[in-house]
Amino acid sequence: MAGIELKSVRKAFQSLEVIHGIDLAIADGSFTVFVGPSGCGKSTLLRMMAGLEEISSGEIRIDGARCDHLLPSARGMAMVFQSYALYPHMSVEQNLRFGLENQRLPKAEIGARVAKAAEILQIEHLLSRRPSQLSGGQSQRVAIGRAIVKEPKAFLFDEPLSNLDAELRVKMRGELTALHRRLGSTMIYVTHDQVEAMTMADQIVVLNEGRIEQVGPPMELYARPKNLFVARFLGAPP
Ligand code: ADP
Ligand code: MG
Repeated sequence: MAGIELKSVRKAFQSLEVIHGIDLAIADGSFTVFVGPSGCGKSTLLRMMAGLEEISSGEIRIDGARCDHLLPSARGMAMVFQSYALYPHMSVEQNLRFGLENQRLPKAEIGARVAKAAEILQIEHLLSRRPSQLSGGQSQRVAIGRAIVKEPKAFLFDEPLSNLDAELRVKMRGELTALHRRLGSTMIYVTHDQVEAMTMADQIVVLNEGRIEQVGPPMELYARPKNLFVARFLGAPP
């Protein structure tokens, strides 16, 4: 299956090009990690896939079909942000229901999806709380829940754990890996953390200044880095 394909994708802000022609195939159901230093274009790439940012040229395909002209809601992708982006005036349950009510899904279907997501993430006891009454880890679970209820083809995570403390980050990594196994959906995960990349990925994409340095499974990149940048970044012997 095709999953997601990027062909010669470029992005310029005004006259400054920040993504310089990315070609990439992401297998259906895989866990792909984008890794690279701050400012290399990780978020911009994710936002272009989600449709939150237009591409300047190139193509993005899902399951073989062009999607780069589609509205975000029509792409079957759900994004999870570092900042959680929960609606502060709504309860957790309302936060989970909100996007589905806009899609005009039947009430019973909405209820079933919210219950399932709450069970998967073990947040059933938090459903009546407001976001201000949640810890960082609980907030991130709700943010992930809001993506799960959409039943997307692909999940796009933009540094979802970087606001959490070290111990919780390790726990949540394991939970996200388990979630991937349970749902079997394509997941694209952005981080600047080498350990996250090495432990979570089926495939790592190493980015530098808007270009791909190397793509491959973690151990291949570690054992056979193409250049010094990849070696240094993943902490491999040069
Ligand atoms: P990363 O997520 O890897 O830290 P970003 O994708 O946020 O990197 O940014 C890549 C480059 O694009 C940076 O040089 C950044 O300054 C620039 N950039 C991102 N968004 C905008 C924008 N809206 N306007 C102008 N430049 C931007
Ligand atoms: Mg970013």
